[in-house]
Formats: sequence, structure tokens, C-alpha cells
Amino acid sequence: MKVIVVGAGVSGLCTAWALVKKGVEVTLLEQGPIPNPLSASGDQHRIIRRAYGGQTGYQRRIGAAYEAWDALWDDLGAKHLVDTGFLIVSQTGRDEAVDYRQGLVDGGFPVEDLSPTDAAARYPFLDAGTIHSAAFSPEGGVLLCQRVAVGLRDWLRRAGADVRETTKVSAVDTDNGRVTLATGEALVADHVVVTAGAWVLDLIPALAASLTSYRTAVAYLAPPEDLRAAWEAAPAILDVGGTVDGYVLPPVAGTGLKVGAGVHKVPCKADDRRVPEPGEGERIRDLFGPPFARIGDYRVTEVVTCAYTFTRDEHFFAKLSPRATIVSACSGHGYKFGAAVGRCVAQGVVSGDREAMRSWLEARD
Ligand SMILES: Cc1cc2nc3c(=O)[nH]c(=O)nc-3n(C[C@H](O)[C@H](O)[C@H](O)COP(=O)(O)OP(=O)(O)OC[C@H]3O[C@@H](n4cnc5c(N)ncnc54)[C@H](O)[C@@H]3O)c2cc1C
Repeated sequence: MKVIVVGAGVSGLCTAWALVKKGVEVTLLEQGPIPNPLSASGDQHRIIRRAYGGQTGYQRRIGAAYEAWDALWDDLGAKHLVDTGFLIVSQTGRDEAVDYRQGLVDGGFPVEDLSPTDAAARYPFLDAGTIHSAAFSPEGGVLLCQRVAVGLRDWLRRAGADVRETTKVSAVDTDNGRVTLATGEALVADHVVVTAGAWVLDLIPALAASLTSYRTAVAYLAPPEDLRAAWEAAPAILDVGGTVDGYVLPPVAGTGLKVGAGVHKVPCKADDRRVPEPGEGERIRDLFGPPFARIGDYRVTEVVTCAYTFTRDEHFFAKLSPRATIVSACSGHGYKFGAAVGRCVAQGVVSGDREAMRSWLEARD
């Protein structure tokens, strides 16, 4: 069987990996380099956590996500996951952080409650006077996305897959398994898997009925010198409390300290506004004080723009055509499922039971 995979973010790379392991002849086409810094998967790191709060379908699948990553680490000969645990900070006792904590308790996950003074003693970058409470769970961490991408790209090539960078697809014929490249060259396979992230709307505009693409940006920060060691030992922070929907990735394994906030995202086409705006990093940074003390002392070192898709209810998306499967593991929480999504899509394509595949991805059971 021959399969073309369009797009080498985490979904495409992992689908190619799982297909190759099933003996499929794979061609993987990526418009940029691998990793592509413009893709949703191309940044330095992403959060993974076992507790999934209200999204019960994904809660039931998180064990499969960890199992799939473990299988991938075995193949790559390296674990690109740092088990930092994760922290939730509530500023008011009524914000979303409280719901996340309750999700941990309800799910029977280990959780350690911290008073403001205990939290600030353990994590000195917190301003105790601005927080209501904090909770730590050891079952989560930081996935090193760029290392995952490089590891998979090289593994795929060693395994005989045809991995083509700077190869843009301009059209997909979903009925006939045919892909046209920007150069005009046509490729045909038994099946095409489209994992094109936010660009899927350029390839198949009708999907705008189900998917909306957004632009956001994250800021990398250099903390004040006296807080550097505290940050290097910090857990991932899933929610900083308040109303900004803010999260923090600690500087682990050579990565940077990164902050991002849900309130910063706006509807946008994948290629639009990809240059950071003047002062954008400082605006993102300032969303984090509170709960961090001395936020103005953090220097913005880099701002990275991102494009990603959302469905209305934040479940993943799959469209099945006669000779193509279009997958969007999206809505801001898909990276952690990357290896499991790849296994699921490969199983659906090879077995032909793509309805089971769609059901797993959409996670409504
Ligand atoms: C700021 C931010 C923070 C996030 N935080 C988390 C988190 O902490 N935890 C988590 O689990 N998830 C998180 N996510 C979500 C996660 O990053 C995405 O769900 C995941 O990376 C999507 O991967 P993908 O492969 O589907 O898409 P992408 O990574 O966007 O990959 C699509 C690829 O297809 C290529 N492509 C597109 N069109 C073409 C074409 N025509 N021809 C050839 N190639 C093409 C693109 O160049 C790109 O490389 C976050 C997302 C963002 C933006």
C-alpha cells in the first residue's frame, strides 16, 4: 500500500511513523523545513498532563497517548519528554484554575494543595499576595517538540520513507488519491492523509464550516538572574489563574521559559500576520503579573507566532473521502496526542475501518 501524507507537523510525522511500522510505503510532503517553525508543532515545547478536566473523552484516551509516546521513544532511542509535573494557580478561588484542580480530585489524580505562602516559598517567582491557592500534580510534563520532529524525520528516512521538505502541495484530489505539488508535479497513491494544520483551509476551503483558524503568539522570557534557578526547577504551569487563560513552559533540557495566553488568539488565515508586532512580547508578558512578582524585570528574548485550528467544541476533526483522510488534531490541545493520533490514523487507513478512527479522534464516547 502507498500513502501520501501532506504536512509534517506532529500529526503527519506520527502518522507516517505508524504507517511505516505497518509496512506501508510512505511519501511525506512538507512545505517548509522539518520542523517548520510556522507550524503549530514547530515550537520548542508543549504541555502534556494526565488529568483532562471536563473533556472526558480525551481523559479516557490520555493513557493511550502516553503509551504511544513510550513506543515512539523506544523507536527513536530517546525520550523527548521531561516529567516536570504541573502547577495550577488560582488568583481568585473562582477562576478556571479551580475547575482544573477539581478535575484532578474527581479523577483520583495525585494533587498537592498549596497555600499562597507555601506556593511562593517553593516557587519564588510567584507573588503570594496575588494568589488564592495553588495545586501541584506530578503526572505531567513538557514534550520537546523540535526534538520529536528531528528524531521522527531522521527515523522515517532511515526506515525508507520518502520525506520531502520545502515541497508544497497545491491541490488534493480526495476522490482519486492524487496530489498536485506547487511545481505542477502530480503524485498518486492508494490513499492521501492530509494533516496540514491551519493551512488545510487553503487546500480545502469548504472545511471552514467545521474549522476556524486562529493566530496567536507566545513570548520567550529571560527571568531576573535571582529567579533563574527557580524557573529551571519549575513544573509546567497549566493555568496562572485570573481571566487570561495563561500557561507557562519552564526552561528544561535547553529550552526557553515561555508564556502564552488564550486571550491573545484571534481568527486569522494561516499565513497572515506571521511577523510579531512591535511590543507584542511585552504585552503577552504583562498578562502574567499577577501572579508573577516583578514581571517587568523579565526580558522578552523572542516572540513566536503560531497558527492553529479550532472546532466549535474543541474536539478533534476528521473528514473521510473515498481516497483521502483529512485530520486536524487541533483546538490548542492536540500535541500531547500526536503519537496516538498517528497510530489511530494509520490503523484506520490500513484496516479500512475509518469510522472507528474518526470516533476515536472525535472522542465523544
Ligand atoms: C500556542 C499554542 C500552544 C499550544 N499548547 C499546547 C500544549 O501545551 N499541549 C498540547 O497538547 N497542544 C498544544 N497546542 C496544540 C498543538 O500544538 C497542535 O494541536 C498540534 O501541534 C497540531 O499539529 P498538526 O500536525 O495537526 O498541525 P501543524 O503542526 O500545524 O502541522 C501542519 C504541517 O503541515 C504543513 N503544511 C500545511 N499545508 C501544506 C501544504 N499545502 N503542503 C505541504 N505541507 C503543508 C505545515 O507547514 C505544517 O508543518 C498548542 C498550540 C498552539 C498554537
